[in-house]
Amino acid sequence: MATYEFKSESKRMLDLMINSIYTHKEIFLREIISNASDALDKLYYKSLSDENITFDREKFFIRITPDKDARTITISDGGIGMSRNELEENLGTIAKSGSFAFKSENEKKDDVDIIGQFGVGFYSAFMVAKNVTVKSRKFGSDEAYKWYSEGADGYEIEPCDKATAGTEIILALKDNTDDENYDQYLEEFTIRNLVKKYSDYIKYPIKMMVTKQRLKEQPKDADKDAKPEYETYTEDEVLNSMVPLWRKNKSELSEDDYNNFYKEKFFDYENPLKTIHTSADGTLSYTALLFIPSRPPFDYYTKDFKKGLALYTNGVMIMDKCEDLLPDYFGFVRGLVDSADLSLNISREILQHDRQLKTIAAHLKKKIKSELLNMQKNDRENYDKFYEAFKRPLKFGVYDNYGVNKDFLADLIMFWSSSEKKNVTLSEYVERMKDDQEFIYYASGETVEQIDHLPQVENVKDKGYEILYLTEDVDEFAIKILDTYKEKKFKSVSSADLNLEDETAKAEEAVAEETSKDLFTAMKDILGDRVVKVKPTTRLKNHPVCITNEGDVSLEMEKILGAMPNGGVKAQRVLEINIKHPMFEKLKAAESDSDKLKKLTEVAYGCALLVEGMSVDDAAGFADSVCELV
Ligand code: ADP
Repeated sequence: MATYEFKSESKRMLDLMINSIYTHKEIFLREIISNASDALDKLYYKSLSDENITFDREKFFIRITPDKDARTITISDGGIGMSRNELEENLGTIAKSGSFAFKSENEKKDDVDIIGQFGVGFYSAFMVAKNVTVKSRKFGSDEAYKWYSEGADGYEIEPCDKATAGTEIILALKDNTDDENYDQYLEEFTIRNLVKKYSDYIKYPIKMMVTKQRLKEQPKDADKDAKPEYETYTEDEVLNSMVPLWRKNKSELSEDDYNNFYKEKFFDYENPLKTIHTSADGTLSYTALLFIPSRPPFDYYTKDFKKGLALYTNGVMIMDKCEDLLPDYFGFVRGLVDSADLSLNISREILQHDRQLKTIAAHLKKKIKSELLNMQKNDRENYDKFYEAFKRPLKFGVYDNYGVNKDFLADLIMFWSSSEKKNVTLSEYVERMKDDQEFIYYASGETVEQIDHLPQVENVKDKGYEILYLTEDVDEFAIKILDTYKEKKFKSVSSADLNLEDETAKAEEAVAEETSKDLFTAMKDILGDRVVKVKPTTRLKNHPVCITNEGDVSLEMEKILGAMPNGGVKAQRVLEINIKHPMFEKLKAAESDSDKLKKLTEVAYGCALLVEGMSVDDAAGFADSVCELV
């Protein structure tokens, strides 16, 4: 018989499985049961749209059959089945596995991580089996095929007999080792526990013939004092409760139940940060089970990511990802909604206009926010973790659509605080504002450290004001859209009209402005369009110069906009000269020597740029001038 090779990715995956030291090998059963359940789902859907399929509920079940003598465990279903082609396509190629996306070579961590991170599906069978046989007959076909593989060497396919449509998966267990007892998977007790643990909510019965004991019927004339006799018998038992988890009473469910459900359903290896199980009754009744993940899904920041919640009606899934149930800024939330008020055959188009769906979405949005605020208040450590993972969508949410959602989201966002040395909410900032403080001060830059060293920051800190540090590209745009929070305006410490100087300082600036008017004009002429103004300042302590801006576009924003394809919006830069610094004296002394003034001005401007984390246009010229002046 011909042996076919696995595709290379699959081979790698298989190697991983076969040699796995993963401690949760038991998940193989969950994976295979899930596939069986999916196959039954597919047949069920088909029956909805095809009148020729008579729906026989009796046949919708999954069976597990352990065989201690043969050391095999068989999982069978009466689902949609696979054709020869599908056997080859689905089981020979890892890329076909919907839930699996291989990490690229450089971000590949250890094997254990990969196995835990993704639902690895069918191949997980090879963690416990030395060979796997799949017998399948596609629904509607009278041919059946057998797929057989011992692992990485490849697989064989040949026709076989199979009386009914569906799939049968036979795992021949590996030999026991000192570390691993594979025989345990043949024990009724173990299987029962595994089904309860991982597959309890599967909506089709998972059946197994179990051995039981009962008291032997005693003959009428039996001696009353004789020892009671027992006999064993077998009985078909349904191992799972079949009630979807979200339809159970909250009080019946433990944190573990929720966590296991989440991890299995959403292929995460970490528990969710928060679970929200909520229902509404009345004109619109629904149950929602939502999870806030601990970290973004691996494709979250790619265009492949699709937000949405699964949509069920009466326990039957009608849509895998219903986008309309979540706003973009909460797109990271995973979960499902089950409502009896929705029709089963509803189409995507109709859903979009569905009033009830809109109402549910509006409820959920509020619920998610209130749960997050609750976490922010009462479980700050977790909120910090949440915020680290999902601050971007929240801040984009503030900025998006010209700020229509800004007020809804403002309470959720945080920024690094100069005084608290951690992320703080806007509300916390406002509560701490000093009596004489008019504005919410912020500074933007690339990192906290860089901002800390900005000359403009030093001055505001010295005056005792807290400053919010904006280190992400979206931050300043969000703040600009927000404009105010609790009636307090935001103000950049780099704005030219910061106006924090006291009366004496203002007077000194005015004197310098007046007496050195010609000097500033000459410097402005030297710098040309690069600045809108050169002016004296008292806001700096040790630094000779700094750049501030007039108008709405800051230097940080200029950098970001400049990086965009059709960017190029410029900040209106102001070069400020510290009149208490010896540099100012040097400039004044050079006023009549135009050559020297030019050099000094270029150096002053260049230094100010460098401090801002920007580069000088003519680095060589700048370096030459510095050396010469030194
Ligand atoms: P996933 O289930 O994540 O897609 P798997 O590797 O577990 O990945 O399975 C690959 C594919 O094989 C499935 O998508 C499905 O098409 C097919 N398959 C697996 N088990 C069965 C089954 N019991 N009945 C029908 N098709 C199956």
